[in-house]
Amino acid sequence: MRAVTVRPGVANSLSLVEDQPEPPAEEGAVLVEALAVGICGTDHEIIAGEYGDAPPGADRLIIGHESLGRVIEDPSGTVQPGDLVAGIVRHPDPVPCPNCAVGEWDMCRNGQYTEHGIKALPGFARDRWRIEPQFAVKLDPALAQVGVLLEPTSVVAKAWDHIERIGHRAEWQPQTVLVTGAGPIGLLAALLGTQRGLAVHVLDRATDGPKPELVAGLGATYHAVPVNDLPFEPDVVIECTGAPTVVLDVMCKAGPTGIVCLAGVSSGGRIIDFDAGALNRSLVLENNVVFGSVNANRRHWNMAAQALARADQVWLESLITRRVPVNRYADAYTPGPDDIKVVLEFAS
Ligand SMILES: [Zn+2]
Repeated sequence: MRAVTVRPGVANSLSLVEDQPEPPAEEGAVLVEALAVGICGTDHEIIAGEYGDAPPGADRLIIGHESLGRVIEDPSGTVQPGDLVAGIVRHPDPVPCPNCAVGEWDMCRNGQYTEHGIKALPGFARDRWRIEPQFAVKLDPALAQVGVLLEPTSVVAKAWDHIERIGHRAEWQPQTVLVTGAGPIGLLAALLGTQRGLAVHVLDRATDGPKPELVAGLGATYHAVPVNDLPFEPDVVIECTGAPTVVLDVMCKAGPTGIVCLAGVSSGGRIIDFDAGALNRSLVLENNVVFGSVNANRRHWNMAAQALARADQVWLESLITRRVPVNRYADAYTPGPDDIKVVLEFAS
């Protein structure tokens, strides 16, 4: 069968293996036929040789962590043949740490977790894959075209879950949400904000291309201005750019009792002249919270599956701006100017 692979740590080693062995039974009882794999910044980092680990004893890593497939067989009976499923990316560390021990592997404390297609576990960019039943997430049958968005949606479902847990430390009646960055994560974070009945604002640099229309399609408001020029103080911020100045600006912009969730990863190394004392003063005097959020556990994957099933399917389809057959994999992994989400398709 076919598999998209890299040699971790070696830049531009991306290749399609045509004679990949079938997934061994040890990978899990659920055998799945791949339908689609989504591509994100992490894949580009892995292809650049900056990130990723092969499974122990292997020199190549099968990539792909945003999955959608159809169940071929599951002797455990957890899912049925024909069901749409996605595979949970992260597995708990073997120690396990206190968080992994209770299924909260998204909060792993020792870093020894493993991840399909990223860190020591084979990915989903292959014709067939296996997964343990407790790591298979069933999707509504209506999500055959867009279910590949489940993994990025799980990431924002976790962010929202933690925002709400923090919010309920006291009386909390949020009204306005600012999402910075209108990529797939930002747009899905905005979707979950509108599903909560909140007034959602999305800020991005782009003044043309698909982003303004996608935001309008949610009933949210699009802004292509600096954070400081926004005419309101948000109750909730979900920062998805990782751009250092935007990160600092949103921490200063949040209103009283504001919650700022940092969900974008910065590359580091850029020094900014900044008044840290003024930021401290405003965080303390306004009871604000700034926190980081990454990954998702089973509870969040289930929340994400419900959020996608509730969403406008046409809007979700419009997030997928390119669908590329696996045999043209190199095109799929070459970024295009108007890409939101690019998907590699396997069924054929
Ligand atoms: Zn752990």
